[in-house]
Amino acid sequence: MSHTYAACKNCHAVNRIQIARAKEAVCGKCHSQIIFHGLVSEITSGDFQKVLKASDKPVIVDFWASWCGPCQMYGPEFEKASLGNDQAVFLKVNTETEAALSGSLGIRGIPCTIVFKDGREVKRQAGAMNAEGVKSLLSSV
Ligand SMILES: [Zn+2]
Repeated sequence: MSHTYAACKNCHAVNRIQIARAKEAVCGKCHSQIIFHGLVSEITSGDFQKVLKASDKPVIVDFWASWCGPCQMYGPEFEKASLGNDQAVFLKVNTETEAALSGSLGIRGIPCTIVFKDGREVKRQAGAMNAEGVKSLLSSV
């Protein structure tokens, strides 16, 4: 069965979640709801490495901020690319609240999309894309 990973916002446990059940996903540890936008979940600086380590597939991350116009257009496209897609784990990072993570990755402009494989960065794309662009970025890794 196809699966993805997400960190629980309440207890910070990393959960392996069946894609078919993403809409009603709850944390296996504390039973809090795990929120997906499409198959995209939000991740914090503290939980990021844990998900990278747990994942047996590439992890694609949208670095965004609420004030960023192009990010508002890109978000739904990134989400669209994630729907029904078990090729990768889709995460998004709010660069305002998670400045530590975006700083450590040297992100200067947003939106910025980074693909990680086996815990290492393998691809970085600056700027907004459509859903097809996200998919082709993934198929290039
Ligand atoms: Zn939890």
